[in-house]
Amino acid sequence: MRPEPAQQARARRIAAELSSIARTGRVLPGSITERRTHCGRPGCKCMASPPEPHGPYWHWTRKVRAKTVGRWLTADQHDDYEPWVQNSRRLRELVGELEAIGLEVIESDPRSRRPRS
Ligand SMILES: [Zn+2]
Repeated sequence: MRPEPAQQARARRIAAELSSIARTGRVLPGSITERRTHCGRPGCKCMASPPEPHGPYWHWTRKVRAKTVGRWLTADQHDDYEPWVQNSRRLRELVGELEAIGLEVIESDPRSRRPRS
């Protein structure tokens, strides 16, 4: 079995985007979340009405051997690395699209319908 021309064309478009992201060298696993905190000290702006929380603080987390590992980033680091994290997310989407082509091929493989003897 081999992909049909239309599937090959999709794979080539995916490969071009994968390659363009990889060439940047800017790929970082995990995710970055924004945190705002309330210290609870009476009279602090975070306890005012309306409350003005501390932050934003930026927390980068990723999985290392099935455990979540986190690191705080400066606002400057957040601005620098957020696109890197987005690149990694896009790479995973693109691999998923490639796998979808493979699934289409195996689903249309006539040998898949051969009854068991
Ligand atoms: Zn406070």
